[in-house]
Amino acid sequence: MTGTKPTAPVDCYDADPELLPMAEALRRLDAQTESIADVERVALRDALGRIAAEPVVSPMDVPGHRNSAMDGFALLADDLPGSGTRRLEVLGTARAGRPFVGDVPGGCAVRIMTGAVMPEGTDTVIMQEQVEEHAGADGRGAIVIGEGQRGGQNVREAGEDVANGDRVLAAGDRILPAELGLLASLGIAEVAVRRRLRVAFFSTGDELRSIGEPLALGEVYDSNRYTLYGMLTRLGVDVIDMGVVRDEPGAVNDAFLEAARVGDAVISTGGASTGEADYIGETLSRLGEVRFWRIAIRPGRPIAFGRVGDAMFFGLPGNPVAVMVTFYQFVQPALLRMMGSEEIHPNPTVRAVCASPLRKKPGRVEVYRAILGRDGDGRPTVRSTGKSGSGLLHTMSDANCFIILPEDGESVEPGAEVDVQPFFGLT
Ligand code: AMP
Ligand code: MG
Repeated sequence: MTGTKPTAPVDCYDADPELLPMAEALRRLDAQTESIADVERVALRDALGRIAAEPVVSPMDVPGHRNSAMDGFALLADDLPGSGTRRLEVLGTARAGRPFVGDVPGGCAVRIMTGAVMPEGTDTVIMQEQVEEHAGADGRGAIVIGEGQRGGQNVREAGEDVANGDRVLAAGDRILPAELGLLASLGIAEVAVRRRLRVAFFSTGDELRSIGEPLALGEVYDSNRYTLYGMLTRLGVDVIDMGVVRDEPGAVNDAFLEAARVGDAVISTGGASTGEADYIGETLSRLGEVRFWRIAIRPGRPIAFGRVGDAMFFGLPGNPVAVMVTFYQFVQPALLRMMGSEEIHPNPTVRAVCASPLRKKPGRVEVYRAILGRDGDGRPTVRSTGKSGSGLLHTMSDANCFIILPEDGESVEPGAEVDVQPFFGLT
């Protein structure tokens, strides 16, 4: 970082005309990120969370045959009474996996279970609750049906879910539980996916200790490597934890080189303070092409982005909340792109009524940690977790969402609607 006056305290949140708007930062990240090319074939279950490398086209119809959507009676639409009632003879039973064998002539019906193949000669199913049954032996007997039924009802057509030749997966799709099930329904045992991305990360700071070591005055346990481990593991990449690196040019130099050798991407945290940033900046400019971006976001700026060796590099601030915010807003979308995802990645956002007053300076995005819930009328409401310092990691733990206040927005009064990014989805 350059241009800070040595006499003035460094407030990196001062209004700054050179701040990079968040949308522009995301656009540049996207433009400068390429996906890894390597492809491997994996067993279906192992494809969970991976990115499809090739489209998948269905080799068959699902369901393979017309079948019943209900438990009831299969018959021909011509036998439905226009008015009054009609009595039909029941010839037998069709069960899922055990079809009724034989033809069903006019005036007859077959008892049928959900998923059973429609017997020859039938095209309509009446729910069992809507007929009057006169049971006989061997599942035979008779039924009386009334008005109000529709020809063709309660029948699932062959190929209604997936037709032979349908594309069920595009290259770049992320394989989630529904995709696993869908591929299984087609009998597909293996999927071509991109190889797993390898992400190496380390923390910088003389004050940092790893768990198990005693703390001297002013020292803190390194928590960033744990939040990063968690976020990266859930993203589905291979993580390479390179530990704590001391604030010395030689150590930082070696850490960057080693990380870039083993990882497709490298993430460092810390080193944003004046002084530290200078030699980290120097090291990086020697080893690769890295820019410090002063993104218009709080908490979070500055972050560094570029290349070291063959690896993409993300230099995040040291403050634990800033690490999580910048990871989710900037690094995760870029890593997804590197993983081969073809989706565009705005984080899913919902609107909710905000119950807390939120201070906001114009010209930058502000990210609050918050709790999304419902008010007495069941409407989504969100409230701040309270304190908002970027070193207060418990606020992330208390929260279940971010409130994202846009660059051009003003302070928020209780009752106003805001954009919310929930931490958890169903998948
Ligand atoms: P820095 O960006 O190195 O100036 O760090 C900013 C603040 O974040 C300082 O209070 C650091 O002690 C703290 N910090 C940096 N790295 C970590 C880490 N890995 N775990 C916990 N706190 C950290
Ligand atoms: Mg530091």
